[in-house]
Amino acid sequence: MQNNPLLRHIVATSGDSFQPISPIPTEAVGSIPLSEESDVKNAISHSRTAFESWSYTSMAEREKIMRKLQKLIMRQRHELLDVIQRETGKARAHALEELVHTVMTARFLEKNAADIIKSRDRHGAVPFTTKTTVNHMPIGVVGIIAPWNYPFSLAMIDALAAIMAGNSVVLKPDLQTSWSALHAVRLLELAGLPEGVMTVVTGEGETVGKALVDQADYVCFTGSTETGRIIAQQVGERLINASLELGGKNPMIVCKDADIERFVDVALSSCFTSAGQLCVSTERIYIDREIFEQFKNAFVTRVKEISLGSHLGWGYDMGSITSKEQLERIDAAVKQARSEGAVIECGGRVRTDIGPLVYEPTVLTHVNRTMEIARKEVFGPVVYLTPFDTIEEAIKMSNDTGFGLSGSIITSNKKVAYDIAAEMNCGSVNINEGFAATFGSVEAPMGGMGQSGSGRRQGPEGLLRFTEAQTVSLQRGALVSRKFGSNDKRWGRTMVLKLRLMRLLHLR
Ligand code: NAD
Repeated sequence: MQNNPLLRHIVATSGDSFQPISPIPTEAVGSIPLSEESDVKNAISHSRTAFESWSYTSMAEREKIMRKLQKLIMRQRHELLDVIQRETGKARAHALEELVHTVMTARFLEKNAADIIKSRDRHGAVPFTTKTTVNHMPIGVVGIIAPWNYPFSLAMIDALAAIMAGNSVVLKPDLQTSWSALHAVRLLELAGLPEGVMTVVTGEGETVGKALVDQADYVCFTGSTETGRIIAQQVGERLINASLELGGKNPMIVCKDADIERFVDVALSSCFTSAGQLCVSTERIYIDREIFEQFKNAFVTRVKEISLGSHLGWGYDMGSITSKEQLERIDAAVKQARSEGAVIECGGRVRTDIGPLVYEPTVLTHVNRTMEIARKEVFGPVVYLTPFDTIEEAIKMSNDTGFGLSGSIITSNKKVAYDIAAEMNCGSVNINEGFAATFGSVEAPMGGMGQSGSGRRQGPEGLLRFTEAQTVSLQRGALVSRKFGSNDKRWGRTMVLKLRLMRLLHLR
């Protein structure tokens, strides 16, 4: 594996390596050479050199790479799906969602990036005589730190936006899932990205990740709220910008007019995609008391029917937990909830008969807001159901955790849905869907409020975060400011007159 050509995308000279363990017992993942802090320095310096020329490439050239990348991902999807499944243990359908998301993002950028970042004129200080233009300039070297749960798409979607905006990228994937990230970089190179525009460093967050945050010109972090806080302090000290895509405790509100079949289908995919190891996964469902028992029974019946698996390929609904540590966290969270009074309606067991890291999809009831599970992200296939009496109460409970990533509303009344959405403190609201409607809307921003982070990925906002806005104003005729030595009182009168005139003529 050490001779694998993909490894040349990593800057790593420590001589040490890391051996990830596949959650799928019959599969092996190759070991990964480890970078050290000096490698990060070299990667940044190499990336800065690549930036010098990349930032001057035409948008047409960048679009060509996006176009080719989409084809390559589709063509090589079988191999990519194997890599993602091998590293994460997720079901193949969920691995495919990563590829679909990346292709959609590349297509959005190919078609829209040039228009979003092109220079635009704005109204100037003085009508007709001040010509003001806003330019969007690339920032430099973008450091991307990615988690293990969506290793291909989260290595790619932010990097593609950064690259399209003219930056170079140094990526630090999670150690468990470096191969998915390396495949992503290889595909970009095959699509025509010049060598050095995207480089990888590998290693522990506390050392290699920290060194990247210390040296990059912009940091794009996806991971836990705890790590997000550390990174926010570091970038604050350096006075550089960052986007922080963090955890969630995402609610779903089910109104009494909800269609039961629709609710069950939406809730299943929203809670158990990637075995719940998804930032926008639903972890709590508030159901109108009038329909609570009926909906609970229908949901639990279907959850028990979810097929589990732990092998490469198609054929099951839900796969493994990605690591032993994560499995232990999930199991401990459920046990703790039970000890605090929660009732397990179904699930709640490790299924070593299916795979070493398979955890049953789990539904809890009788959870109250003081329990740990009501306040902490589980990041696993665990959801609790709670009845509500009024919509106001449901909204209050939804907004009660400090997180604010994603939410869902199930109702057949559109007006009610939009009214509830306006009251929900979260970055994305899905009506009659789980997370997929907003997450798949790659033209729209995606990100969190409160402890779920700051900044937005996707859409124009996700591209513009990787640029510095520069305003250039050309002044023709008289100066905007007072000429020193001139009659200040007369200048004052002229200014007041000008303001009145602008208001009268409706000039901006
Ligand atoms: P994590 O914070 O432990 O690690 C994420 C990445 O940060 C890893 O690459 C890790 O090596 C690195 N890291 C750790 N400490 C660091 C430090 N001090 N400095 C720099 N880098 C450091 O998170 P995780 O457990 O791997 O990922 C799961 C979390 O990610 C969940 O909370 C999930 O909700 C969140 N997530 C959020 C989004 C989103 O879009 N909001 C998407 C996916 C995952």
